[in-house]
Amino acid sequence: MDAGVLAGVQEDRREGAVKLPELIRIGPHDVTIKAWTSSEANSHGASGWFSSAELQIRVDASQPNTVQVEVLLHEINHAIYQLFSLAQDDVEEKTVGAFAVGYTQVFRDNPQLRKWFDAMLRK
Ligand SMILES: [Zn+2]
Repeated sequence: MDAGVLAGVQEDRREGAVKLPELIRIGPHDVTIKAWTSSEANSHGASGWFSSAELQIRVDASQPNTVQVEVLLHEINHAIYQLFSLAQDDVEEKTVGAFAVGYTQVFRDNPQLRKWFDAMLRK
């Protein structure tokens, strides 16, 4: 077992039983989320990906946890940007990237805020 595999096992234990959701709702749509291996991510030349045509998000699960959160938020931002019919140009990439970095920091540094969101969003 190499160090990378060992690090992955340790990270999985830290995450406990909470798994990446396979399906999330964005607007009126059900969007599937699947984990990429590092080789799948490398073959696409990206850590994440969103397709509005297929309603799919992919995230490189080999990255550190905070990077996976940022990438998932980045792809959710793309989904919101496209599914809510915002403008399509280079501004999109810069805007969703900034929001993903910002949300990752806000969620990481504010656990009470995450709990409040979770409580407020329960049915
Ligand atoms: Zn992007």
